[in-house]
Order: sequence, then structure tokens, then C-alpha cells
Amino acid sequence: MNYQVDDNGYYGRFGGAYVPEILHKCVEVLQKQYLEILQSEAFGREYRVLLRDYAGRPSPLYLAGRLSEKYGCRIYLKREDLNHTGSHKINNTVGQILVARSLGKKRIIAETGAGQHGVATATVCALMNMPCVVYMGRTDVERQQPNVEKMRMLGAEVVPVESGNMTLKDATNEAIRDWCCHPADTYYIIGSTVGPHPYPDMVARLQSVISEEIKGQLAEKEGRDYPDYLMACVGGGSNAAGTVYHYLDDERVQIVLAEAGGEGVLSGRSAATIQLGREGIIHGARTLVMQNADGQIEEPYSISAGLDYPGIGPLHANLARVKRARVLAVNDDEALKAAFELTRLEGIIPALESAHALGALPKMTFKKDDVVVLTVSGRGDKDMETYLNNGQLIIND
Ligand SMILES: *Cc1c(COP(=O)(O)O)cnc(C)c1O
Repeated sequence: MNYQVDDNGYYGRFGGAYVPEILHKCVEVLQKQYLEILQSEAFGREYRVLLRDYAGRPSPLYLAGRLSEKYGCRIYLKREDLNHTGSHKINNTVGQILVARSLGKKRIIAETGAGQHGVATATVCALMNMPCVVYMGRTDVERQQPNVEKMRMLGAEVVPVESGNMTLKDATNEAIRDWCCHPADTYYIIGSTVGPHPYPDMVARLQSVISEEIKGQLAEKEGRDYPDYLMACVGGGSNAAGTVYHYLDDERVQIVLAEAGGEGVLSGRSAATIQLGREGIIHGARTLVMQNADGQIEEPYSISAGLDYPGIGPLHANLARVKRARVLAVNDDEALKAAFELTRLEGIIPALESAHALGALPKMTFKKDDVVVLTVSGRGDKDMETYLNNGQLIIND
């Protein structure tokens, strides 16, 4: 079984590049050139140096003693929360801005929901002195003020999008519209393993530094370079793709993906796309999409803005379909509880997204010697208001 993208840009039946005529050429140029750029020596050198000296890699692999005791196995946390800008997203934006520069592009656009990808993009644009426009639904602009302020301080123009529900899907449409108007000079930095081919593969490769590091770190700490379980949360799928990338073909390793159940998978307020989605086209790719009977995209819901996406990367849709990955839905309350648990057991406040991966732990049965690597995709600073508003319930539980 081959889990990687094929020559036509598909993972099994998912993926491809469904883009408007006007973008055809720039997507094709990217398809033809991205591997050459990513594999060039010049790119490799600059990317590695920036990840190390700017983003703070390698991120630690931490054996969480008290959490391990609680779940009766050996749990290592991959600490993406310690990266510059607070999550794994910087791995991708550092890489893509170098790709943009190689292609001779002069202007960067991006979409953002919670603002994490927007901040990571605005950050590398400041670093590389490139103009940056970030599209963000007006609803999100209002509820994610600190990230909007960071983007503006970094020099980005944040454009509030007024169409639809004024959230991520609408911001994405607007970014694509901008790209259509400026295909020659503009590069679109997509924030996850989504979008038309080659984005899912390119983003997975840029995030694969996570599993590359896990291999070396586990070899050192456990005397074997693979775990029994890999666990990560999935929104679009980039931190999960990075976590599993170098283990996809290693069937000794079980992959567990946590998607956002919201108020319950069947509650009508959920973002459990793999369970609820049907095949369709979103953001330029064929994948599982939350949609109504007419094929209109349904608004997803999760307490976590980063998981609140009505699609899923084609790599993950395929991993779920061929049963290479086990997918668990973790509801809002389970994620909140897991966030407080990690905080009180280990002194680490995780991002709400990452708390969904942690919330999958009680749904598993482990053996004492099992080695589990769970990716903490980001830190919880941005989620303090949600935690404080819901904390009392949990602590007294
Ligand atoms: C954006 C984000 C996610 C979800 O995105 P993926 O592409 O699925 O990784 C998860 N965790 C954090 C901290 C994020 O900022």
C-alpha cells in the first residue's frame, strides 16, 4: 500500500487540483517545480538554519511521567508548542516563503481562521520583507483580536471578509479570488495539508521534520526509533501529517487521529469531518466535506477554532478510508477536561486543538510497555479565555 501522493496528485481517490482556469498555469508551475525546490541544496540549507535558529527546532520529545502513570504506558509529548509563534505552523510558513522567493513571487496572501496561520505567515513575511495580505472572516476578526493585532504589528494587512458566515471557508474563497486576480506576482501560503495538489504534499513534507526528529529522539531515549502509537489532532491535517510522515509505511506503528466532535458527532454542532463528510470538492481538492443534500458546505462547529474546518486533507481522508489510521471524535467537554488534566499533571497548558489529541487518551487501551508519541501542536495562551470560562466545571469534576 502506498500512502503518499501519486504522480497525478491523488491519495487513492482523494486530492487532485480543481482550480479555476485562470489559476491553472500557476498551480501547474508549482506542481512542476516544488520537488526540485524542496530537494535543492540551497533550500535545504536555509530551511534547516531557519528552523533551528529562528523557530527553535528541534522541539523536545518529553517523557510525561505523571501522564504516563495515569494511562499505564509511556507517553512522550512532541513539544510543537515551544516553537516560535506557539505552534507547528511556523515549520510550514518558513518553508513556503522560501518556495515563494524561489519562484520569484513578490507578494504573499494567506487565509486564517483562528489567526494562528495568519500570524505565522505575517511573521515570515516580516522576516523576508514581503508584503502580506491575510484574509479572515469578520466573525473571526472579532473573536480573535490578539492575533489580529499581532498580524498588524508584524506589518500584514488583515482583510475582514463579509461574505457567508464570515469564517474560515469565506476567508479561503476570498484568498482564492485575490490569487485569481494576481496570479503572476502573488504566492498563496496555504496553512494546512489542504488545497489543490501540490499543496497537501508540500505542506506534509515541510511538516515532516516533526517525525524525522521523533525518530532520532526515540532511538536515543527508547533504543528503538519507532513508537507503538502516534497520536495527533486533525483540523486540515498538517501537524498530524508531520507526526506520521516517516512512519506511514511502518505497520508496527498505529496511527490515531483526533477530530473535533464539537457538542457530539450527531448533535448538528460538530466538526468531525471524517465521520460526517461525504466526497466533494473543497478548497481545490476532492476529499471528505461536510455538506448538505444539495452539496452546499455545512458550517462546522468546534470549541477550537483551529479544528473548525468543513474539509480534511486528502492524505488523511485516504488514511481513514484504507484504515491505516484510526479516527476518534473528541468532544468539546472531553478536550477541555484533557487540557486541565495535562496542565495539572505536567505543568503544560496545551492549545485547545492539541487538547483534542489528549482527549483521545481515555478512549484507548494501552499495555504497560507501549510507547506513545502524542504531538502537542501548540500552546494554550490564545485559549485562556475559553479555559477560564469553562475551568470551574472541570476542576470541581
Ligand atoms: C491550526 C492548528 C491546528 C490544526 O491544523 P492542522 O493543519 O490540522 O494541524 C492544530 N493545532 C494548533 C495549535 C493549530 O494552531
